[in-house]
Amino acid sequence: MTLIRLIAIAVVLWLAWTILRRWLARARAHRPLRGGGHAPRQVEQMVRCAHCGLHVPEKEAVAAGGRHYCSTRHRDAGAA
Ligand SMILES: [Zn+2]
Repeated sequence: MTLIRLIAIAVVLWLAWTILRRWLARARAHRPLRGGGHAPRQVEQMVRCAHCGLHVPEKEAVAAGGRHYCSTRHRDAGAA
């Protein structure tokens, strides 16, 4: 009966591990700003176009003279 007991313990441990992992994942999803870990979906930094006021992601914005623009056309228009 030792083998059955071992299997039972293994099943219980596996279940506990599965439940714990699921619980941890849910707890992390509810508190994305806590823990200091890298969030998979980071909030994109938005910047305002200095010419037309359109908000664009910083990655797509055109930076010039400490200002951000939505396009190179507005950068040129803002500089002029
Ligand atoms: Zn613009």
